[in-house]
Amino acid sequence: MRFTGKTAVVTGAASGIGRATALRFAREGAQVIAGDIDETGGAALVAEAEAQGRIRFQRTDVTAEADIVALLAAADGPDILFNNAGAGGQRGRIDEIDAVGWDATMALLLRSVALGIRHAAPLMAARGGGAIVNTASIAATMSGAAPTAYSTAKAGVLHLTKMAAADLARSNIRVNAVLPGFIVTNIFTATLGLTGAVRDQANAAIATVAAGSQPVRRPGRPEDIAAAVAFLASEEDAGFVTGTHILVDGGMSVGPRHSW
Ligand code: NAD
Repeated sequence: MRFTGKTAVVTGAASGIGRATALRFAREGAQVIAGDIDETGGAALVAEAEAQGRIRFQRTDVTAEADIVALLAAADGPDILFNNAGAGGQRGRIDEIDAVGWDATMALLLRSVALGIRHAAPLMAARGGGAIVNTASIAATMSGAAPTAYSTAKAGVLHLTKMAAADLARSNIRVNAVLPGFIVTNIFTATLGLTGAVRDQANAAIATVAAGSQPVRRPGRPEDIAAAVAFLASEEDAGFVTGTHILVDGGMSVGPRHSW
């Protein structure tokens, strides 16, 4: 119950990593304000946590600044912000991109995080401090994990995390990032437009591929990321941790599993 008496705002909370983290915060005592464009998934999240009554959902498009401001206002004084919403972004190599797709990717994955921090900062400062965690990616530090626009935006999130940590330390606000490796969520099937049973089948196939993609031979789960986010958000556990990141990738970044 590390978060009793705390209010946590989570974006991209209707699915995957955001959903698991919202549930984890609620389970550990926080009041959670969950934002997402997916209202059906948001309602399902609230229903799952109904017994605790600690999750509220508000439709939020993180590419719209006014929506971010409204989500934070709904928290009525946030202690924790998890900037997590995202999707695959523009596909292709650098010689295949276009300005419209590039801008949309940056707005979704990078500007949203900057604006989340920007608008949370004065609210947290007024409360005497807070903790912000941003979802970057293993793709922020290596080329083979995702397309160019997505990877560049996530590298931006990583450096933004350091800048914001330095900017906001005077207000007692810690800012850190989590870098997921290959985590089985709907992010892969969403880009293909799959839903329902077909999506579940595809996710099961992806889980098999994921399990073989790194030295730790099991699929990465949203709960693996939620645990790291909870650590970084906890004043008790990570009160002296700011401007850094945790890579949660089953060892993917160190290379394939040895056969010797
Ligand atoms: P997911 O598709 O399960 O969840 C993403 C959520 O973000 C969805 O509920 C979606 O509706 C929401 N979303 C998308 N656009 C939005 C917008 N404009 N405003 C508000 N919400 C929006 O995927 P996930 O894997 O849980 O992704 C969460 C974060 O983790 C993303 O930032 C993603 O880039 C990052 N990430 C995922 C992986 C992975 O392997 N799954 C790896 C590295 C980083």
